[in-house]
Amino acid sequence: MIIPKANKLSTNELKEVEAIASDFECSILEIQGHNRCVYAILGDEGREVMFKRIAGLSFISKVEMIESPYKLMDRRSGLADHRVQVGKTEVGKEEPFFIAGPCTIDPNNPNLYLESAHAIKEAGAHALRGGVWKPRTNPYSYQGDNQSLEIILQAREETGLPIDIEVMDSEQLKLAFDAKVDVLQIGTRNALNYSLLKEVGKLSAGSDTTVLLKRGRHVGSPNEFIAAAEYIVAEGNPNVMLCPRGTTPHLEGYRNHPDESITPLLKNRTWAPVVVDPSHSVGHADFVLACSLAAIAYGADGLCIESHIDPSKGIGDDPKQAIRPEKLGELIQSCQAVWKSRYLP
Ligand code: PEP
Ligand code: MN
Repeated sequence: MIIPKANKLSTNELKEVEAIASDFECSILEIQGHNRCVYAILGDEGREVMFKRIAGLSFISKVEMIESPYKLMDRRSGLADHRVQVGKTEVGKEEPFFIAGPCTIDPNNPNLYLESAHAIKEAGAHALRGGVWKPRTNPYSYQGDNQSLEIILQAREETGLPIDIEVMDSEQLKLAFDAKVDVLQIGTRNALNYSLLKEVGKLSAGSDTTVLLKRGRHVGSPNEFIAAAEYIVAEGNPNVMLCPRGTTPHLEGYRNHPDESITPLLKNRTWAPVVVDPSHSVGHADFVLACSLAAIAYGADGLCIESHIDPSKGIGDDPKQAIRPEKLGELIQSCQAVWKSRYLP
């Protein structure tokens, strides 16, 4: 990884670096972090002479070789001071970051979503979630509807909150990206779909778009999880949030096996913010508060929570696990209290 002295290389400086890299059959990828650009060397970067020639340029601060399966996601990388921002909020800076909303948008009842969105804003959430297209275990259950994209865009317009939706293939990705969806969610079923992860990274490279990457539900190891995020960052988009969401086999009584406890491991190995999803983890509205508090106590930067004004009228997971916006408001305040206590001496 190449770190320039200034925040960014000029066009001529970049050309000079690229010319050296191409002598060694390597290319250079610019990655725009929050405060500065870093440059990844693509190809066989273990060429000492190439390193020395680049490091010797007057405008280069250092060239680092990071021995890690995830060079860019690693805490020791030049992106260590990268901060992820969603809308106007820097994730996990002053308080926990909350994404909330129904599991699934009902295209036949847009008002349910819109009213939920306003109540969720009132409760104190920073971003809205809502499933437009749904990954379903049963191929005959509701799969989503393009019309729901219009509904969540309207909710953004009305509330001013950034929006998060899951995309599962190239077509959905393009529709969401063209609509300037703020957070592209990659679900647990696609957590290791490297082609999709690369496509997401490439399409959103250099943009403000953030990616919420869920953990693979089959007890994906922390390193496998971080390496999956590396696919997105290595295509040019460092705006990635890691989302533990429970693993399978489930703990009897819960929907999955709650995994907020991997948060400190992730934060120890990578600079990326951790946004835990307690809703899919425990799978029951009654247990979401406890799981949320635990996640914040473990050091999470934020939470992604299913919330609906009338869960019984919701579709998808809402009847089982969505909490009402009043409960969400209480949960946010309790999490803020735990957050503050984390920093007590
Ligand atoms: C969801 O967020 O509604 C969802 C389907 O999540 P996951 O991919 O974690 O199951
Ligand atoms: Mn859901």
